[in-house]
Amino acid sequence: MPTVAEIKQAAITAIEERKEEVIGIAKTILQNPETGFTEQKTARLVQQRFQQMGIPFQSALAITGVKGMVQGKAGPGPTVAVIGELDSLRVLEHPFHDDVTGAAHACGHHCQVANMLGAMVGLMAPGVINHLSGRIAPVAVPAEEFIEVERRMRLREEGKLEFMGGKQEFIKLGVFDDVDMAMITHTSAEAFKLGIGGTSNGHVVKFVQFTGRGAHAGGAPHMGINALNAAMIALTSINANRETFRDQDTVRVHGILTRGGDAVSAVPSNVTLEWRVRSGNLNALVSNSGKVDRCFKAGAMAVGAQVSITNIPGYLPMRNNAVMQEVYLRNAKELVGDGSVLVRPATHNGGGSTDMGDLAQIMPLIHPYCGGATGTGHGADYVIQDYDTAVIAPAKAMAMTVIDLLANGAQKAKEIKSNDKAPMTKEQYLRFQRDRAEVVRYDGAKA
Ligand SMILES: [Zn+2]
Ligand SMILES: [Zn+2]
Repeated sequence: MPTVAEIKQAAITAIEERKEEVIGIAKTILQNPETGFTEQKTARLVQQRFQQMGIPFQSALAITGVKGMVQGKAGPGPTVAVIGELDSLRVLEHPFHDDVTGAAHACGHHCQVANMLGAMVGLMAPGVINHLSGRIAPVAVPAEEFIEVERRMRLREEGKLEFMGGKQEFIKLGVFDDVDMAMITHTSAEAFKLGIGGTSNGHVVKFVQFTGRGAHAGGAPHMGINALNAAMIALTSINANRETFRDQDTVRVHGILTRGGDAVSAVPSNVTLEWRVRSGNLNALVSNSGKVDRCFKAGAMAVGAQVSITNIPGYLPMRNNAVMQEVYLRNAKELVGDGSVLVRPATHNGGGSTDMGDLAQIMPLIHPYCGGATGTGHGADYVIQDYDTAVIAPAKAMAMTVIDLLANGAQKAKEIKSNDKAPMTKEQYLRFQRDRAEVVRYDGAKA
């Protein structure tokens, strides 16, 4: 019977031997970026790799998702998911953008799929899987970046989705029903090799449509109702509310104008926006979302336009399981050295959002980070410089962590599973999110 340290060494050796191949996966995905729910090529690549590794899988989950399932050979036990995200962003100025779609990996998710597969290279080695109890589920999830809301609303109308984030939809579909705990590693441009800790914002997503009345912008503007002016007043009203946002709620309210009018010679009659309200706790989220709705109504009221606000359930705040985090930290320090590991306090909120937060409401998980990138996340200059740090180190650290959880009869995983206090059941989660979904209509002409 090998020791846990020997099992970990077997995993590290296996990953090291196939390092160039694993990094090659990340580089292939970088060259083929696909936004959420369109990740057909990336999903096919994951399926081919699962096939080569002898991992049974299900595909086309929430359109493009892939879920593998591997049985440890040392007996039954809990199931640990190792997750990667398939999707890219849209950044037209990014050096590796797709000319047709504008898709670009400006958030490093190409490395996440590769580090998930890299971890599996280590865990599938005979000197590893033979000594693990329970199961490992490598999962490639679509659509973490909450973008292209109008396109996703069409998918919802066609009955292909209910939720617009991949893990949200996976939860609803029951893909995580047989998973007990999870992990994912995301890239970062900060000066550490591996990091963990902190939380993230919850958010509500809004598709807003102002409807006015078109008219000749020169000859008869008095006959029109200017929907762009309504939107402009709404945005000024939102800014007037910023002084009411509390620092401790880490509020971010932002968005884009997706349609500002159709011809410069006509009073704009149809104006649309995608908007985002983020807050660090659910009470603030619900309250601030209501304030922003009020502002959109104010814009409509001022000029006598109509507004329709489609509120869409966004993501919930992240929660790292403290015991899993400790296990991960020990491995990260052993792998890259204490000085290259960053630990953030659980209360540190980076301001962004992730649907790992949704999963964290119903099960224990960790969301570590790996370095290796430079530039600004979601910016045109966000690129991976050091693939060893962005792909290989996290693959090894996750494999080592899974080994700690599932070796020795999966004792650690069992302990985490029975002690974790998830804030919600799956049913409570779905109810909370479905309560966020509503269409608010307001006729400013009748005010
Ligand atoms: Zn991102
Ligand atoms: Zn990301």
